[in-house]
Amino acid sequence: MIPFNRPSLVGNELDYIREAVELGHLSGDGQFSKRCHAWLEAAVGGQALLTHSCTAALEMAAILADLQPGDEVIMPSYTFVSTANAVALRGAIPVFVDIRPDTLNIDETLIESAITNRTRAIIAVHYAGVCAEMDAISEIAKRHGLFVIEDAAQALMSTYKGRPAGSLSDAAAFSFHETKNLLSGEGGALVVQNEKLMERAEIIREKGTNRRQFFRGAVDKYTWVDIGSSFLPSELVAAFLLAQLENGNVITQKRIDICQTYRAAFVDAAKSGRIALPVVPQHCGFNGHMFYVLFPGIEGRTKFMNAMKAAGVMTPFHYVPLHSSPAGRRFGRHHGELKTTDSVSERLVRFPVFFDLGDNQDRVIAAALRALDEIGV
Ligand SMILES: *Cc1c(COP(=O)(O)O)cnc(C)c1O
Repeated sequence: MIPFNRPSLVGNELDYIREAVELGHLSGDGQFSKRCHAWLEAAVGGQALLTHSCTAALEMAAILADLQPGDEVIMPSYTFVSTANAVALRGAIPVFVDIRPDTLNIDETLIESAITNRTRAIIAVHYAGVCAEMDAISEIAKRHGLFVIEDAAQALMSTYKGRPAGSLSDAAAFSFHETKNLLSGEGGALVVQNEKLMERAEIIREKGTNRRQFFRGAVDKYTWVDIGSSFLPSELVAAFLLAQLENGNVITQKRIDICQTYRAAFVDAAKSGRIALPVVPQHCGFNGHMFYVLFPGIEGRTKFMNAMKAAGVMTPFHYVPLHSSPAGRRFGRHHGELKTTDSVSERLVRFPVFFDLGDNQDRVIAAALRALDEIGV
């Protein structure tokens, strides 16, 4: 069986973990966390804090946005649950809008009509490593005084008009989950663009205490000053992650190559209209996070996935739209019809993209071309 994803060692992961143990500091914010912060700040800009997940970084961003019960946050429905959970956990209301049919990112032309006097923030998800239309989103946010969050879980090292994903909003969340580009098993980071937010973020991340300021010598005692939780990862996680970050360019380039190889293999099937391929606009720099194809309908997709499984290849799909999920209906509301979201959710299939895919990619492609012929879509 060719798996959908498999994590690999690419550099000094194990040596760094040993080093972390020998340094005698295994809790958070030691040498390795600091080196990861520096890497992220150089790559993305702003100020970075490692978290134990992107989910945690999104929860921190929701606190930084000062969401109060009943406040509304506009976001796509076609995303991972953590985007909406962060809002619901504050008692605020996710307001789901539809996505664009090309990039599958939030349709920025639908945002303004979803704004009410309770709207406080917009969360843009950079789906598949392709940035949402941040210029338009920032302009709307500015006009209405809204906080902007990037769910950049899939977009580390992607760009928008030459600017790094994660630098295009007030607060951005990255993921180092093993299914993402650079990984540490579970892991994430928050990146913020202003000093005031950073000051509060440090406190929220340290259980609501000013512990970090205390260790810097900025205050003479440390105490409980705000709400917060334990959002930071251990040094073992940071040590593993640093090795991945140091190889970020190599890993990213390999994923881009894999995606390009898939694209070239399926270009004829796309030309004949049997499937559609991902769209990456000229102004978006792609990080090779994901390769997917879209079928004309759910029937073709189901047949294709079954044929792939029989050929020993895992090709999963996602997402079940949040606006029609039980919790989405309970905690959120949707603005207008979400036709593209519903349709894409039934038609999309993902292909294996991981560092050590190697020659197995040829087998995946051969199986896929055979499956396409067999099912006759
Ligand atoms: C993976 C993912 C997350 C969650 O990341 P974790 O690090 O697993 O918490 C959130 N949002 C999106 C869009 C994701 O793809």
